[in-house]
Parts: sequence; structure tokens; C-alpha cells
Amino acid sequence: MVDSIEYDLIIVGSGLAGLRAAIEAAKTSPSIKIGVISKVQVMRSHSVSAEGGTAAVLFEDEGDNIESHIYDTVKGSDFLADQDVAELLCKEMPREIYQLEHWGMPWSRRKDGKIAQRPFGGYSFPRATFASDKVGFFLMQTLYDTCQKFDNIEFLNEWFVTSIIHDGQQFMGITAIQISSGTFYQIKAKSLIIASGGAGRLYSFATYAYSSTPDGLDMAYRAGLALKDMEFVQFHPTGILPSGILITEAARGEGGYLINKDGERFMKRYAAGKMELSPRDIVSRSIMTEIREGRGFMHESGVECMKLDLRHLGDEVIKEKLGAIREISIKFSGIDPAQEMLDIRPVCHYMMGGIHTNIDGATELKGVWAAGEAACNSVHGANRLGANSTSECIVWGKITGALAARHAMSGKQSSPFPHHLVVLEEKRIYDGVFRGQGEYNPYEVRQELTDIMNDKAYVFKTESDLVDGLKKLRELKSKTWRHVDDKAKEYNTNFTNVMELDSMFRVAEVVLVGAINRRESRGSHARLDYPQRDDANFLHHTLAYYDPKEPIMKKHPVTITRYQPVERKY
Ligand SMILES: Cc1cc2nc3c(=O)[nH]c(=O)nc-3n(C[C@H](O)[C@H](O)[C@H](O)COP(=O)(O)OP(=O)(O)OC[C@H]3O[C@@H](n4cnc5c(N)ncnc54)[C@H](O)[C@@H]3O)c2cc1C
Repeated sequence: MVDSIEYDLIIVGSGLAGLRAAIEAAKTSPSIKIGVISKVQVMRSHSVSAEGGTAAVLFEDEGDNIESHIYDTVKGSDFLADQDVAELLCKEMPREIYQLEHWGMPWSRRKDGKIAQRPFGGYSFPRATFASDKVGFFLMQTLYDTCQKFDNIEFLNEWFVTSIIHDGQQFMGITAIQISSGTFYQIKAKSLIIASGGAGRLYSFATYAYSSTPDGLDMAYRAGLALKDMEFVQFHPTGILPSGILITEAARGEGGYLINKDGERFMKRYAAGKMELSPRDIVSRSIMTEIREGRGFMHESGVECMKLDLRHLGDEVIKEKLGAIREISIKFSGIDPAQEMLDIRPVCHYMMGGIHTNIDGATELKGVWAAGEAACNSVHGANRLGANSTSECIVWGKITGALAARHAMSGKQSSPFPHHLVVLEEKRIYDGVFRGQGEYNPYEVRQELTDIMNDKAYVFKTESDLVDGLKKLRELKSKTWRHVDDKAKEYNTNFTNVMELDSMFRVAEVVLVGAINRRESRGSHARLDYPQRDDANFLHHTLAYYDPKEPIMKKHPVTITRYQPVERKY
């Protein structure tokens, strides 16, 4: 008999979205029992490494306005954002900045004592609210502290969730392994919020935590929920070489330059108006075009790169406003940014796609919501603006937290708990993975998978590369690699790593198939063989449903309320 525990509301993920959801759920109903479950310790969720800022309109009296934030978001998205969703984000955010402040968030200040904001790519006004360049760390600490005020929030740290259990009509529970003991559990609940974060570790050159794998997306996909717009993967222009650790856009927000081999600020050729502060998709393509045309530097690691010049900002500004990236540059590349230019290259940084939800974060299954980077409520369309993601996590954490709590209060499960599905899941992971007979080293296979994604689905894509990538991915998947050498019960991270790899195959396939099907260029999705945006044929979202053979792809309409698509110019 499988061990069993019960909550009213389960939140998978203790990043910004999960913590904000927990607080709102606890406020909505002090009587429900909330479990926040995470495969890592709370403060090791990837959110903690957000650096640059959180977007919100705070200074209407100084010329900013909500309408402009909405339009910047929609334009940044290359008109694929659902415009009602973008509007909701921008309207909700100002209140959230003050709410966070009241919970203890140490926002950086201007000289006049007001909350400071700095410029970020693609915005018409300095709108990135920040706390030095450690915004994620301070946000996480503020939210985690606030969670402690509620007796009905429990943390299940270092639990690995493996599947969603439902009866075809509504959500019933999840299955998970308590990593410390190795015990497999069924966890019954009435509501679920999936806040399992992004999956950028599908790529070998990525800014993400190693835990940012697609297991959360995959469990939704296997449960029959759609993944939406997965072909839109964001490459941040400035991953530092050789590690790929992020050098925040705030470095350019504070005045940093991008320089090519000829010493030129090359962005003048691509976006003379906004230069280095153009949206990320445009800056990344500009860097790769410079490299393709022979104006790149050769880095000692064997890849070509551009330089980021911060020297003119001076030691004092760098120490005060960019302290974390100074430390990263010195520790990981041996370069002091006040003295030398940094070697940078576009790096996998964000997934615009995720679990398909409506404007409220509700999925297609009753009782299940998704929030944060794991969700695709279509606020970012084909390209996210920097600083809009932490905002999204906060806003949809709050919205889904309230809705899921209300559902848990009123929800009665109409059918008995489907124990047979738990037994099937136990078989899938223990017979299929733990006792698997694979001969190939799963860590080598993981490296190969992420290299395929890097080589075949990077900043610029072509049909032949994508088709070749998909073929290689499927060949790799069919090799016998499913096995776990470590047979220990306690803290068996070998086991969870192989389960992560299993989920990576299914979700990588969706990314590639989506990219092959989208024969146009839009936002982060740049096809050399179809260089134009094609609104007549592709102004729609992509949905992918799971089928053991291959993903079933469908189209979903874009909500356009007030801004008709026009060509993006910066
Ligand atoms: C280096 C970096 C810097 C960034 N800087 C900014 C910025 O300045 N501004 C901005 O707006 N955005 C920024 N972003 C993006 C933003 O930080 C993320 O999109 C956001 O924090 C994601 O939060 P989340 O709550 O959705 O998930 P995460 O913080 O990624 O958390 C995911 C959670 O899910 C849990 N989980 C996943 N799978 C399982 C499983 N199988 N079982 C149990 N638990 C599971 C994890 O343990 C974790 O707790 C940055 C991203 C990176 C990588």
C-alpha cells in the first residue's frame, strides 16, 4: 500500500509564483491546509537568482502610464501576447510593488527617498523596480518570511513530484518521492497550482539553475493538459563566457555598451533608437549577425563572442548597482568589469511557452491552475520583456492562489480516488526508470540532448537544422539509457536526475516540432528560411497534446483587444 497524505491545496514549486500563491491562498482561507512542495530547499528555487528588476508603473506623475506598459509588452511580444492578459499584468503590478514593500522588500531608493526604477530593454520609461542587482533574492526572502505568518502553509522541501492524478474530469492528487527517505507517496488534494518554473536546462548554455528541468511541464503534458507556444525560447544577449551565468540587462540599463571586434557599438545598425536597450530577441539576433559576418571575438573556450563594456560606469556605480554581476565576473571569469570588457554570448534564459492557461491561470482540468514561468497565460507572446517575469509570477501567484483556495473550500470530489493510477505511476518510475536496464550513461545522454538543442534550435533556426535536431533527439531517446546506478533509498539524486532526463525528451520534442511548424519569424523564433513575420498564417498560439507516438499539434487564437499588429521598430 502506498503511503498517503492529504492537503486541501497543493502548490508544486516554491519560487516566486509558488510563494505568492501560498500567501494569497492562506489569506483567502485560514482553514484550508496548504502544502508547498519543492524538489529543492525553498531558497534554492531559480527565482532567487533574478538580478535586474521587476516591472511596474510607479510614476504616473513623472510621465509614465499603464497604457504605455501594456503597449510595450504587446509590442515586445511581437503581437502574440493576449492583450487582455498583458493589460491585467500592468494594472495589477503597481499595487503589488507597494504590497511587497509593506511585507519588507528592501527596494532600492532614489535620492528623494522614493522607490528607484531603472531602464530595461524594450520599455518606453524606466520601469524596472530593483533591489541592487539581487531582486530575486530579496523578493524570495520577503515572500518566504511572509509565509511564516500563516499557520496553514506547510513546506515539503526536497520532495520530487512525479505525476498528477485525476479522474478525467477533475484533479484528485499528485504522486511524489520524499527525497530524504526515498518513500513514494500519494498526496490527495482538491486544488493544485503548478508553479514549477522554466525548463531552460534543455539547453547546454543556459542561465538557469540545474534544477530548471521540465518535469513540471511534463507531468501536466502527460496528464493530458496542453503545452502552449513552446517554440518560443528566449536567448538573453549577455551570458558570460565560459559558464553562461547571466550578466543582467541592468548592466545595459545602467549604461553598458555592446562592442564588436572593430570596436563599434554595432547596435546602431539594428536599432538606432533604443540601441543596447532594445528587446532581447533583437539584441541577440544582432550579436549573432555580427558573429556570422565575421565581426566577433574568438574566446579561449573556442566560441565566438561580443564584448560588454562597463568600464565607463566607474567602480563606484558598478559596486553599488551591479554588485552581484561584478562578483560573478571576477569569480567566474577572472575579470573586473571596471577594468576590462566582459566576453558575452546569447544564452538560453526564459521560456515564453508553458502549460496552457486562461487569463486566470486556470488549465483545462478542473481544480488545476498554473502560474509563473511554468504557465503560458500568453502575457509574453513571442518574446518577454526583461523584468516582466518576476511581475508575472507575483500577479498570477496572487490570482491563482485565491482561486485555488476558493475551489478547495467548496470543492467536493465526486468520484473515489483512483488508486490504480498511483499503482501505474509507481510501476512507470520504479520498473521503467529505477530498475531500468539501460546501458548508456544518462548524464552523457543528458549532455548530448542539451547540445542538440543548442546546436539545432539556437538564436537562428532553419528547417534542415530543426528536422535534423528532431531526428537526432529521437535516435538518442530510443537508446537504452533508463537506469539508475545508485540503489540507495535515501537522497537518491541519481534517480531524480534520470527522471528529469525522461521529462526532457518529451518536452524538447515539443519545442522542436513547434519550431518546425512555425514557418515564419516572430519574436524569439527567428527562421533564416522564413525571415518575415506572417500574420496571415501564423498569428496564433501553438498547443501540443501528449501522444506516445508524437505530439498532437493544434492552433489557438490570439486575443487582440486594441492594438493591431504592426512592424516592430526600435
Ligand atoms: C539568472 C536569471 C535571472 C533572472 N532575472 C530576472 C529579472 O531580473 N527580472 C525578471 O522579471 N525575471 C528574471 N528572470 C526570470 C525569472 O526569475 C523567472 O522566470 C522566475 O523567477 C520563475 O519563477 P517561478 O516561481 O515560476 O519558478 P522557479 O523559481 O524556477 O521555481 C520552480 C520551483 O518548482 C520546483 N519544482 C520543479 N519541478 C519539480 C518537481 N518535479 N517536484 C517538486 N518541485 C519541483 C522547484 O524546486 C522550484 O521550487 C531571471 C531568470 C534567471 C534564470
